[in-house]
Amino acid sequence: MNYTEKINVLIEALPYVNRFRKHIIVIKYGGNAMINADLRHSVMQDILMMKSVGMIPIVVHGGGPFISQMLDNLSIESHFVDGLRSTSEEAMKVAEMVLSGSVNNDIVRTFNHLGGNAIGLSGLDDHLITVTKKKVIDPDSETQVDLGYVGNVESVNTLLLTNLIQADYVPIISSVGIGSDGHSYNINADEVASAVAIALGASKLIFLTNTPGLLADSQDPDSLISKLSIYEANQLIENKVITEGMIPKINCCLEAITNGVDKVHIIDGRMSHSLLLELFFDMGIGTMLAHSNDDNKEV
Ligand code: ADP
Ligand code: MG
Repeated sequence: MNYTEKINVLIEALPYVNRFRKHIIVIKYGGNAMINADLRHSVMQDILMMKSVGMIPIVVHGGGPFISQMLDNLSIESHFVDGLRSTSEEAMKVAEMVLSGSVNNDIVRTFNHLGGNAIGLSGLDDHLITVTKKKVIDPDSETQVDLGYVGNVESVNTLLLTNLIQADYVPIISSVGIGSDGHSYNINADEVASAVAIALGASKLIFLTNTPGLLADSQDPDSLISKLSIYEANQLIENKVITEGMIPKINCCLEAITNGVDKVHIIDGRMSHSLLLELFFDMGIGTMLAHSNDDNKEV
């Protein structure tokens, strides 16, 4: 790349840097997109870049595959209903150990080693995320199923987060919450991310996952739906185009944009620097949900 091209890259990013300076952007980093250490490193570089140009990133992470792996190693059974993991007392201990112990530490360490100043938190820290027990209906048997220690977000301690932001920290939050019974609950990390984005009035919520975005055919990576209205999203759920882990994700997208978050994006976290591409350049990637469907790449 010659000098002119390098300068052009920076200049192209300028309106986006200006637009989102001092804006809260919540990033959901999905466990399925944490493929290897190099990729985690490049995701943390992107988040540090966001922070360095004055955006306010907040990270919420999952860790599903790591929990599954550990449960397998320990021969503890688990199953999913509509993309949500059923969690026994024993499985909850493992989930907490993996999410708040291993995955959270790994992300915080990587970010801080790059020169960032992240603080790792779970929903237990100063009542950051309180939950009620989740009740779900099994679509096959149409009866209520007990998912065990799986929670719905009830409240977010925004004061803790704003204090951290004001002190210039980047909060990195694992998806464990506390119930009124004093027990830890597993929460789908998409739900934590959207609850945090809504509670803080974030400008953007970005899901980093293991697909190019929402697909019209989940088996065909070329069938990307780049823009989606609330109406279309509901239709796709009804027509069962959206299944498994994409169900809670799209529901969370809808929840966020109907509760004040301007734009929600689902992008490919397996693609190196997808966050930078989405945030700083004219070309949009992945799937974008917004209230109105009439704008192109937003500034
Ligand atoms: P994450 O760890 O990022 O939350 P999930 O596995 O929970 O990832 O959700 C993403 C998964 O949802 C995809 O890997 C895919 O298997 C599934 N999925 C179901 N329907 C769709 C769809 N229409 N488009 C894309 N992915 C879909
Ligand atoms: Mg998921």
